[in-house]
Amino acid sequence: VGARGAPYLDDLNPEQRRAVETLDGPVLMLAGAGTGKTKALTSRIVHLLNTGRARPNEILAVTFTNKAAREMKERVGRMLGRDIEGMPWLGTFHAVCVKLLRRHAELAGLKSNFTILDTDDQVRLLRQLVQAANIDDKRWPPRVLAGIIDNWKNRAWTPDKLPASEASAFDGKGPALYAQYQARLKELNAVDFGDLLLHVVTIFQTHDDVLQQCRRWFRYILVDEYQDTNVAQYLWLRLLAGGHQNICCVGDDDQSIYGWRGAEVGNILRFEKDFPGAHVVRLEQNYRSTPHILAAASGVIAGNRGRLGKELWTETEEGEKVRLIGHWDGEEEARWIGEEIEAMQRGTRRQRPFGLDEMAILVRASHQMRAFEDRFLTIGLPYRVIGGPRFYERLEIRDAMAYFRVVTSPADDLAFERIVNTPKRGLGDKAQQKIQITAREHGVPLVEGARILLEQGGLGGKGGAELRKLIDGLARWGRLLGEDTVGHVELAGQILDESGYTEMWQNDKTPEAPGRLENLKELVKALEQFENLQGFLEHVSLIMDNEQAESGEKVSIMTLHAAKGLEFPVVFLPGWEDGLFPSQRSMDESGEKGLEEERRLAYVGITRAEEVCTISFAGNRRVFGQWQSALPSRFIDELPEAHVEVLTPPGLYGGGYGAAAGGVQNSVDARAARADVYNSPGWKRMQARAGQRPLSQPAETRNTVIDMKAVSSHTMGERVFHQKFGYGAVVGIEGDKLEVDFEKAGTKKVVARFISAADD
Ligand code: ATP
Ligand code: MG
Repeated sequence: VGARGAPYLDDLNPEQRRAVETLDGPVLMLAGAGTGKTKALTSRIVHLLNTGRARPNEILAVTFTNKAAREMKERVGRMLGRDIEGMPWLGTFHAVCVKLLRRHAELAGLKSNFTILDTDDQVRLLRQLVQAANIDDKRWPPRVLAGIIDNWKNRAWTPDKLPASEASAFDGKGPALYAQYQARLKELNAVDFGDLLLHVVTIFQTHDDVLQQCRRWFRYILVDEYQDTNVAQYLWLRLLAGGHQNICCVGDDDQSIYGWRGAEVGNILRFEKDFPGAHVVRLEQNYRSTPHILAAASGVIAGNRGRLGKELWTETEEGEKVRLIGHWDGEEEARWIGEEIEAMQRGTRRQRPFGLDEMAILVRASHQMRAFEDRFLTIGLPYRVIGGPRFYERLEIRDAMAYFRVVTSPADDLAFERIVNTPKRGLGDKAQQKIQITAREHGVPLVEGARILLEQGGLGGKGGAELRKLIDGLARWGRLLGEDTVGHVELAGQILDESGYTEMWQNDKTPEAPGRLENLKELVKALEQFENLQGFLEHVSLIMDNEQAESGEKVSIMTLHAAKGLEFPVVFLPGWEDGLFPSQRSMDESGEKGLEEERRLAYVGITRAEEVCTISFAGNRRVFGQWQSALPSRFIDELPEAHVEVLTPPGLYGGGYGAAAGGVQNSVDARAARADVYNSPGWKRMQARAGQRPLSQPAETRNTVIDMKAVSSHTMGERVFHQKFGYGAVVGIEGDKLEVDFEKAGTKKVVARFISAADD
């Protein structure tokens, strides 16, 4: 009642509104970036609640990242004008599946307090199995096997359902190891990430009563970024929506970027077949980006074949063209971007001032982040890394978490192995083996095995005494966990102190030790936001993004993959070089599939920008300690020339943003952009400077640079720019000298080095 005319509906265009108000039956919103799919999806939740169609706990809404889920929850609350007392089923596929699996763990042969392994644990476990099978783990690394198994799980293949085509995987031993691995996980009462979905799908397929119950619970299903669902997620959704068919999926086939992780863009294209009678809504107005940015992105994605093809338009102000700039190396790129960010904070002749929160750097590969982190730390520019498991990946954090894990689930052998001799308790390989053997003999977890071993007097000396202390401690903390006398935050502190772990770092004299102690404090602090230890552990094993509720404005650094669905007024896209972006792997692959996915990633990157988008590349990059030269990305050639402006490399006119902006060459020929940059005086200077640099640059690398010069050699009649004489046309070419008819200065012979191409 009274829904019509509600503010959240008035904010929508007619197509969005149709998607929001068509509450029953399947709805598909298939539309380009920034057209308001997520906004419509969020409004739909509000509409369901506002019209009383569903209670908060009857809506299942899946997003791609925890960050996206959080934002959606906040927006729903804001639109409703009241706090929603929990939307328990709004989250990522994984988060929702953990909850379902805890309820029905026994149907998957697990106990409800199962642990979720992270990649490290997973690989450690696989290593044990690989070694036990007498496989050379140098030639057949467990990490590779982990990838293969993940892939199988993404395709919803349990060991008994592996198709014959997979028989040769991992030297023909893959299928058997997969089965062993699954059995071992069950023994450990553990699951890996892929299992979360796989177990739930299997339960749905084998226990109709559970499926029916879930269908009754989740009366309305909503899915964002549907183009990136994998087979397991797809099956899961189809099973759940199979009854009432109240499912609304939104996505964009041009933004499918998880093919390498088993996502199937076909899922979205098949929607109408899977759900006959589906309402299909198309949105064409982009509300996010300026026309130049939108046109640049559309130009790039046009290079892909087999697209649905979508027209996008916008009413936003024209704004700046997409800016393109080349640098000598990655460090210089980072330095320039740092300066640029500071200049943009102040505001420039051409742009309004931007807050740090409004700016983001989106990289193709996470190793690119280091240069930015280093640089920003140096100049004191606040930044945050999003999507990188930075904090929780740290050694001391992982150790501490292992302690918490053993306390909350004593059967977690992997965690126990990690902590049993950390800090050093004089328990060497021999002693640890004894524990293993005893545990196996009695068919009990390692903690219990250790207790039995001590009881039998099987371990004496310092090691025995220390182990006794640990085992007693674990038992004590476990009891406290079950009581109300000590809060979980206090308990966490006690565990770290009484186990000797804190002391270990206090006694450590390495320069990192103080930082590690800080991190441990941070960790205990983080616990405050959770009800109990288990909830916290779950959270950590699920987070893909680590950003805490830190205060203060910061520039965001993240991968292009993590940037999906987000938007920023100012976006930097560094590292557009062949071999980095597109990745070497995609270039080596036969066929266009890999390259097309990279191109979609470029499209995602550019369309994150609202007002200013800057693409950059470096001519040299140090990768794993080796200097490598690179060609500007082929995607740069695909940027439509009318929407790109080439900036002069820095240092040319004394550096700094203002100066560089003054020296902007108004080149509209983006195809010549690569040549432009390599031909510019600034580039030459950088090359000259490189001569003085102790570069361990292989000879062929230098050749590449020289080749680039050849590519950009001048032609008769070409319009060029000279630093001193301005614009002119080439009327004669003699070796490295050019005769140029300058518009203002008349005809002159000049050295080619001081000339750059200049097209209007
Ligand atoms: P992506 O494909 O990148 O995920 P999207 O289609 O989900 O994009 P949204 O993030 O929902 O797009 O919307 C992009 C921007 O446009 C947001 O800032 C949003 O608030 C705004 N927007 C969406 N719809 C409208 C509308 N009808 N009127 C005004 N602004 C809108
Ligand atoms: Mg979106």
